[in-house]
Amino acid sequence: MEPKILQRSDHCVSRKNISKNALTVLYRLNESGYKAYLAGGCVRDLMLGRQPKDFDVATDASPQEVKKCFRNCRLIGRRFRLAHVMFRGEIIEVATFRAPTSGTLPDAEGDEEPNNEENEKRDVVINEDGVVVRDNEYGTPEEDAFRRDFTVNALFYDIADFSIIDYVGGLDDLDKKVIHCIGDPEIRYKEDPVRMIRAVRFAATLGLEIEQNTYDAILSQCSQMLHASHARMYEEILKFFYSGAMEPAFKLWKDTGLLDVMFPGFSTWYREQATPEEIHWHHMALQQLDKWKTHNIKASQELAYTLFLTPYIRSVRNEIFARGDLSPRNAYMEAVEQIQRVLSARILIPKRIAFKIFDLTSSQDRFLDRKNEQRTIRFLHRSYFRDALVLFKFDALASGNPQSDLIEAWTEDLKKAPPPSEHKERPHKPRRKRRRRRPQH
Ligand code: ATP
Ligand code: MG
Repeated sequence: MEPKILQRSDHCVSRKNISKNALTVLYRLNESGYKAYLAGGCVRDLMLGRQPKDFDVATDASPQEVKKCFRNCRLIGRRFRLAHVMFRGEIIEVATFRAPTSGTLPDAEGDEEPNNEENEKRDVVINEDGVVVRDNEYGTPEEDAFRRDFTVNALFYDIADFSIIDYVGGLDDLDKKVIHCIGDPEIRYKEDPVRMIRAVRFAATLGLEIEQNTYDAILSQCSQMLHASHARMYEEILKFFYSGAMEPAFKLWKDTGLLDVMFPGFSTWYREQATPEEIHWHHMALQQLDKWKTHNIKASQELAYTLFLTPYIRSVRNEIFARGDLSPRNAYMEAVEQIQRVLSARILIPKRIAFKIFDLTSSQDRFLDRKNEQRTIRFLHRSYFRDALVLFKFDALASGNPQSDLIEAWTEDLKKAPPPSEHKERPHKPRRKRRRRRPQH
């Protein structure tokens, strides 16, 4: 199939906006006689006039051949061999064109050094749920474009003549501002369910509409999310928290049913139990996450997850506390553990993060009492103090309870707190839950 080609004079992508390191990689590959394209999200972002997060290169050189071109290169990946060309502060990922047998699994990790090039040629494994667990078949540029997820993510920028190459209709879809699945969306989502939340993320962050079939298939296939890797889900959700588009994204999560599948427990609480005040608090939390992105502030992972979950955690904790057999603090621990357990069927929140979510939520009352100086100083020295204060300030704002004097005093104290770099990670050994002693009759 002949691709649509936009010559340099007909598009806006300029080398000024491409990282120097990516250009170095592209030119070196090209001079060595290989095809060298920028590919994927970076071309999409450049076409939209946005600054790409990272630059990915696609080539017809095999990983071993790429390695020979660069001294600063290592090969990674078990699911798919990739070359990483390492520069100070930046890694340029170089992938050999792949065949579209199936969904690509982008979270290729691992440090194995591949050594048998021949064995890499056909190496595709699909598990009993239809999810692709290994996919190592090399292909042509056209095949590589077709195995990608959405048309706008499948454009190439060719360093040989600075043209944009489009095999899949991505240029038209960029013009129409739509996210359009390549191939049959139901099949593509079955192969890799994470594509459903990627569609939603791109729609929300780039302000695109999801094309009707691409959208309808999310409604029919969203239960497939259960088959997505739980560790990958944790990372994908974080991408939302850091996307600057949590507000529109959350609406899409609700509308598509993805919220129910991704956040069981939370979604039932949100729909059936949450009070208007809690919904308001949560809505402001989404806006806060987006504001941080606008101001280029990257919240810690635990703060991002805590902000999203706080009204739910508090509600569960209040129910547990009302049973009367746990201390206020232990009721928090029980609540966070319970929520983590329920979510763990979908999202693997690492233990160390769950522990910090507990610290952040359960420590909020400590801001209310400054009478005991020793306690105040101990609190200041906690590694989570800064994040806890951010949460306290936000809570004051969101619940319309200004707490101005307290916030001023604690913010002043912050100057005395050790810098974040001096905090040691606290070992997260399981704590014993002490039961409250029942009153003797
Ligand atoms: P972001 O701006 O979030 O980095 P991106 O489109 O660059 O967006 P990446 O995860 O960096 O996303 O992936 C790079 C490219 O790899 C994508 O643009 C797409 O072409 C392809 N890709 C990534 N994930 C998948 C997937 N699950 N299925 C098919 N292709 C994928
Ligand atoms: Mg990317």
